[in-house]
Amino acid sequence: MSRISVDCSKCKVQACWSSTPGNGPSYCPTKTKIEPIQEALEMYLEDPETREMAIAAARTEGRSYMKWTRVEDTIDFAHEMGYKKLGIATCIGLMAEDRILQEILTAHGFAVTSICCKCGAIPKEDIGLLDSEKAKPGTFEPICNPVAQAKILDAAGTELNILLGLCVGHDTLFTKHSRAPVTTLVAKDRITCHNPNAVLHGTSFYYKRLISP
Ligand code: SF4
Repeated sequence: MSRISVDCSKCKVQACWSSTPGNGPSYCPTKTKIEPIQEALEMYLEDPETREMAIAAARTEGRSYMKWTRVEDTIDFAHEMGYKKLGIATCIGLMAEDRILQEILTAHGFAVTSICCKCGAIPKEDIGLLDSEKAKPGTFEPICNPVAQAKILDAAGTELNILLGLCVGHDTLFTKHSRAPVTTLVAKDRITCHNPNAVLHGTSFYYKRLISP
């Protein structure tokens, strides 16, 4: 069996959330990973963009704690950062939510650009998928197009891009190609109405298959 290097999931004490962080287990990264933690601290102190974002995020957390929803947190963080132009990269399945989010953000003074995942209407076959690999074989299915979403929001000059229900993998591609920083408002989970944490709570019974595949 390999020696545990870093595995906070095994920790029973969470000493990092206390004034005695040395009380963590032997593999606690607070004790064993001094170098990257020090490098991170230097970035918070010396890299201007990282510093500004870290302070804004912590201020939003402080103001919001146990009071605000994630939508309100997003608005506050964007204001704190001084952003004026926001992008929404939305799933086509959440267009109604997209409209509501745009209305909310506009009411809070932001200029908003929204772009749908199916933009371009490129057939899945055009990037090499087989008909049998589609969700509904025998029908027209366009790819989700997160790279185009990122490029279009980039051209619009957005300063923060908000993910609204992009699929797993497509969200990864969007984040990889977005020039502006990215935050997730809605994580796609078609079965749980976009609440993937429900599965983690349900592994003792309903989702046991995920623990013992
Ligand atoms: S950082 Fe250390 S104390 Fe905190 S959860 Fe991980 S192992 Fe536990």
